[in-house]
Amino acid sequence: MTILAWIEDRRRLKLVNAAKHKDSNNNQSRGLWTRCDRCGVTLYVKHLKENQGVCFGCGYHLQMSSQERIEHLIDYDSWRPLDETLSPCDPLTFQDQKSYVERLKDAQQETGLRDAVQTGTGLLDGIPVALGVMDFRFMGGSMGSVVGERITRLIEYATQEGLALVLVCASGGARMQEGIFSLMQMAKASAALQVYQSCAKMVYISVLTSPTTGGVTASFAMLGDLIFAEPKALIGFAGRRVIEQTLQEQLPDDFQTAEYLLHHGLLDLIVPRYFLKQALSETITLYKDAPFKKKRKDINVPLVSPSLHQSAHPTVKKVEEI
Ligand SMILES: [Zn+2]
Repeated sequence: MTILAWIEDRRRLKLVNAAKHKDSNNNQSRGLWTRCDRCGVTLYVKHLKENQGVCFGCGYHLQMSSQERIEHLIDYDSWRPLDETLSPCDPLTFQDQKSYVERLKDAQQETGLRDAVQTGTGLLDGIPVALGVMDFRFMGGSMGSVVGERITRLIEYATQEGLALVLVCASGGARMQEGIFSLMQMAKASAALQVYQSCAKMVYISVLTSPTTGGVTASFAMLGDLIFAEPKALIGFAGRRVIEQTLQEQLPDDFQTAEYLLHHGLLDLIVPRYFLKQALSETITLYKDAPFKKKRKDINVPLVSPSLHQSAHPTVKKVEEI
């Protein structure tokens, strides 16, 4: 064996072993350990959950599942989910490396959810609220027809019942696998919010978590009467690299972080996760008795989504119909 062949052999061996080592680490981390996305510190999952997903090393707020978020925000045993049976279709029969149907199936198995948002009502420190929580684990929190429909229905329900509305956003943007059907959700949810804000005159608080980007940012995420964000959350429309290449300019390091946006007037408040429930409850209480509040039952509320009374949108199906 020549020296060159020996070196090549060693290199190949090293690569093979490295891949095995990495895999076993991943499997282990899935159960007990994880790493902070920001500082790289190894974290014990059990302790991390007890600390509401906030890194012990740097205070970074790691992503949280929608279920955990609901448990932290809503009083025990008061959560009532809405539109649980809505399930996504594949209107474009979209396929890239994998078919959209397969991607949906995988995401549903992995998360136990039907789509990337959970909506419902519950008590937040004793105050009835309509709450929507996006889940980034489900296809990057992308907004397809079901996400848009659930959020629109939640807004309309809140309008009819005169409930305060809280939407916790975590999304990579519109779901490209549904093409124009996903883009129209931006307008639909915005229109419903317009009705909510002008008719119900209750407060809508948008909570932006990391990341909130793309179509969601260009829609309901930025339409809150008050916009809260978690510390150091990534919030933006287009990605950093796209903007840099288009403008041919170097962007500041903290560009698209919650702190940068607060400084430039896009946000109202940065709230650490430990205090989010308290901040929401105090803010809603402040607005609850606002003099402009009207009784909802007396007002004829125009509906954006016909689905509350008629059949659902063709890109959305109920589970019973499958
Ligand atoms: Zn950290």
